[in-house]
Amino acid sequence: MHASAVYNFAAGPGVMPQEVLLEAQRELLDCRRSGMSILEMPFTGEAFQDIADQARRDLRELVGLPPNYRVLFLPGGASTQFSLLPMNLLPPDGRADYVDSGHWSRKAIAEARRYVPVNVAASGARYGYRRLPCRRHWRLDPGAGYCHITSNETADGLAYHRLPDTRGVPLVADMTSDFLSRPLDIERFGVIYAGAQKNIGPAGLTLVIIRDDLLRAAWPACPTAFSYRVQVDSDNRFNTPPTQAIYLAGLVFRWLRSQGGLGAMAARNRRKSEALYAFIDASDFYACAQRVADRSRMNVCFHLAVPSLTAEFVAQARRQGLLNLQGHAAVGGLRASLYNAMPEAGVEALIAFMAAFAARHGRSRRRCG
Ligand SMILES: *Cc1c(COP(=O)(O)O)cnc(C)c1O
Repeated sequence: MHASAVYNFAAGPGVMPQEVLLEAQRELLDCRRSGMSILEMPFTGEAFQDIADQARRDLRELVGLPPNYRVLFLPGGASTQFSLLPMNLLPPDGRADYVDSGHWSRKAIAEARRYVPVNVAASGARYGYRRLPCRRHWRLDPGAGYCHITSNETADGLAYHRLPDTRGVPLVADMTSDFLSRPLDIERFGVIYAGAQKNIGPAGLTLVIIRDDLLRAAWPACPTAFSYRVQVDSDNRFNTPPTQAIYLAGLVFRWLRSQGGLGAMAARNRRKSEALYAFIDASDFYACAQRVADRSRMNVCFHLAVPSLTAEFVAQARRQGLLNLQGHAAVGGLRASLYNAMPEAGVEALIAFMAAFAARHGRSRRRCG
């Protein structure tokens, strides 16, 4: 069990609600009085179906999902979907728009390019990925089958706080690191997908939410188990779904409902991230390069004025129970991921540590000019 003084700022897999872990532990040997562990339950049986149906209902309720959207619980990470999107959403001669806003959209683009021509409608590269690409420079293709965005760039610390207008082209969003962190204007989306391990639950599960009218026969080359249409038609039971992961995600959905739902989460996430950004902005020892209007509320990326102290910062923080503060390997610096399950006390502890670290090392800052 977590020691109470430990806070895990990992980007993913990330922190889970303590209540959920305790309940999963309590039920591990006998799940819902079935006499079976969730690990032993046949996926076609009534006991598991109840669990999956409940999870789906709770998710629909949380998000306010209209009846014309389907929910799939698929195996594989979000990266699997990078390849599955073109094969499921486009005709073989189709093409797609992608917006390049950072590390994860570049990955999505590289994978989609193996299947279809990709128009990069806009790129944040010219800004060093310190802001989202300026809307005035987006060049959308009216013939694109969909337009893909990464709603929260986990490695770069950027997020869309206003959705783009794609002029009738279905919007497809990788929401791996911010799904369920705030209410959604769901009808603006054609497809939402999210690897579970950041803000939902266990690694290996991916949620796909798809609007009915976008379901079509997948390409013949697409593995049948990864055809959205086949999985929707078979009630997500074409093959064995990731049962324990669905169970755990269901516990998280129920936890979110007990916390007041996505509106309450958004308010808490805003308080947590604003406290940390305000501290960083007021300090001359820490800095955040991201444009204020595009800053992520899930992944706060920052760096030290004296970069040579970064490893020391991470090590000292770890000794105080503040875990996994190093930045993404491709970006460097520091990152505090503040997912739904990170309590406000965790952010307060982090800020107190940062203030003390700056006080201890402030002199070297002045030495380095
Ligand atoms: C972590 C992450 C991914 C990759 O997820 P995997 O499950 O490891 O494939 C994709 N997109 C975003 C936005 C992420 O944060």
